[in-house]
Amino acid sequence: MGTTMEDKKTICPHCNKKLSKWAAPNFNFSDGLGWCTPFLYVCFNDECTFYKNSWKHMYEMYGQEMGYRFMMHPDSGETSSVPVGGKNVMKGDIIDEVREAEEEAEIEARKRAFQTLTDYYIRKDTDAILAMLLDDNGFGSVRLKAAEHLGETGNINVLEKMVNHRFVNEVIKKKVDEAAEKIHKKNFTMECPHCAEIIKRRAKICKHCGRELEQSV
Ligand SMILES: [Zn+2]
Ligand SMILES: [Zn+2]
Repeated sequence: MGTTMEDKKTICPHCNKKLSKWAAPNFNFSDGLGWCTPFLYVCFNDECTFYKNSWKHMYEMYGQEMGYRFMMHPDSGETSSVPVGGKNVMKGDIIDEVREAEEEAEIEARKRAFQTLTDYYIRKDTDAILAMLLDDNGFGSVRLKAAEHLGETGNINVLEKMVNHRFVNEVIKKKVDEAAEKIHKKNFTMECPHCAEIIKRRAKICKHCGRELEQSV
């Protein structure tokens, strides 16, 4: 990968280290206008010449123990500096970019999973929808939707695997129960109260366990 514009923009010109995203406070230091941005690029390299020289400069000129960090506006590319009274001041507001990237990747993955599920639903591929529902590592929201789709399609072939799966998440479990109820309704079936096998609603004797069934009206 070559150097992109974005890369160049986020390198400190004084020390060539990567600038950090820093959550800008609502107040501002110098211009009276506010930063009007959720973050600024700031050089947090304590060995940066700009930073080191600023301490020297402030002490020699004003006798003050403070310095400046190099700063760049993310939109305009305008450069400036932020005063700091110590090495670790402001560091708590550094935005964790790794975590941020992970979150973005997760949102993307969820979007893709939803799209896949929708495709299966359009194709009425109930086995594929079932697989997504039963995937314990899948996204909760996607699994909820999968349960809903199975209820809507009413395909009785997925019912057994669906109700026999152990769902740890109570919300998903509830959705699955609702979907199972819908499937039963569409197929005029029910669970045998004795052996839990799927039987015709109007059956007098369970074909699986042979026990007599009370007729519900
Ligand atoms: Zn620097
Ligand atoms: Zn039975």
